[in-house]
Amino acid sequence: MGELEKFKDQVYICDRCGECVEICPVYEATKGKSYSAEGAIMIARAILSKRLSYTDPVIERIYACATCKYCEEICPPKIRLVDIYYAMRKDSVKTGIGPIGIYRTYLDCLKKKHNIYGESEESRARKIIEALNIPASGDTIYFTGCMSSYDPGTLEIGLATAKILRETGVEFAMLGGKEWCCGWIPLVAGDKELLNEMAHHNVEALEKAGAKEVITSCSMCYGTIKLVYPEIVGNLPFKLSHTSMYFSKLLDEGKLKPKRGVKKKVTLHDGCYLGRYGGTYEPPRNVIKSIPEIQLIEMKRNKKNARCCGGAIFPAYPEFALKIGQSVLKDAIDGGAEVVVGVCPLCHKCISMAAEKGHSHVSSYDLSMLVAEAMGLAYR
Ligand code: SF4
Ligand code: SF4
Repeated sequence: MGELEKFKDQVYICDRCGECVEICPVYEATKGKSYSAEGAIMIARAILSKRLSYTDPVIERIYACATCKYCEEICPPKIRLVDIYYAMRKDSVKTGIGPIGIYRTYLDCLKKKHNIYGESEESRARKIIEALNIPASGDTIYFTGCMSSYDPGTLEIGLATAKILRETGVEFAMLGGKEWCCGWIPLVAGDKELLNEMAHHNVEALEKAGAKEVITSCSMCYGTIKLVYPEIVGNLPFKLSHTSMYFSKLLDEGKLKPKRGVKKKVTLHDGCYLGRYGGTYEPPRNVIKSIPEIQLIEMKRNKKNARCCGGAIFPAYPEFALKIGQSVLKDAIDGGAEVVVGVCPLCHKCISMAAEKGHSHVSSYDLSMLVAEAMGLAYR
């Protein structure tokens, strides 16, 4: 039985009310109904009834979903729409037709080097580990993620996070080359076997290193470890926190003390994997509000109704992602913000790119960068 067959009942519940169309960021970017969740349901029905197979135009559409989950939030019968996309992706991979384009390269890099950049395992987060002389084992482990370990555009998030933890007296470790990609890329690409391998490896490596608490600065790492790993490895043998949650806890304990004022109007971009997936909305707001002189402005669409930044489709559909990022930026500008604060390196990358291309005066910060500045820590 194919993966999609498991969702047959869900696929036929849809009454084509259309609620999920206009709100879909990919529909907004493409104006193509076949790119929305309702379109995916129609594709799924045609595949189940053998009127359609995984041809190139089908692959093009089923991989374009940004997995933001907003359609699930508003769908009246609460259909598990993202799981339906994932089921079709897995089946398309099994037939040898999926995944789409760039994911093949990423999966190849992951199989050989366990990171999406194809860089050596030993160089994972090396700059941060060497700069701060961070041990490889301990109770509290900062799971750095591929982007904050390797990507020159987002490495500063890793450095800012490590410096904040060090400054606040947290004794923490980083796995370096023993950490692998969290598995989010194989998850969205539809490669179930590789995802399982990544999950087993990371949980074993974290356990061996003595982890009782694991901190991630990437929303995708957070969402994947929190929600997907338990389906593969059972209950997590450690507590998991996103940096926004951990910083908020340090604030409550009086250990994190933003001392420098940041005289800016900022707005928070609720990352989909921390917000809609993880249900975490207040910790990043608490942290921002603790910074002297800062003004927090809420986006018109926030929390469970927040816009997606388009990051999840940035690798395969950069033009769609750019348009989606520009919509987030427009909301920020309309609200009067000067800075968009994110909680994920991919959001930071997409919103920075949208600001750069649109010559916008609004800048993008990750929460860790903002906190580091407020604590007077250099991270660039
Ligand atoms: S909102 Fe749900 S029921 Fe309505 S068209 Fe979309 S998938 Fe179907
Ligand atoms: S998860 Fe987001 S991008 Fe995907 S179909 Fe639903 S609203 Fe559109």
